[in-house]
Amino acid sequence: MVRITPAQPVTIHGRDAHDRLIAESDGIVYVLTDCCEASVTGTVDGAACRACYRPVPDSMGMAWTSAEWAEGIRSGVVSITPRA
Ligand SMILES: [Zn+2]
Repeated sequence: MVRITPAQPVTIHGRDAHDRLIAESDGIVYVLTDCCEASVTGTVDGAACRACYRPVPDSMGMAWTSAEWAEGIRSGVVSITPRA
């Protein structure tokens, strides 16, 4: 489990094919919630928005290293639409 602290600069990459915002902080790439554009945290029931604790799909709790993410982009596994 990776803990993201607000002090670290966050880069927004854009939206993925599922229209979810993708952010990067401290070498870790992760999905932001639709409701609050916050990171996802684990709860006893699964995954939830870190800001409002609304439940989100477990798949949104995934994270990647910068290298894994770059490889995914390079190989076409993931695609990003830059944030308007
Ligand atoms: Zn929320």
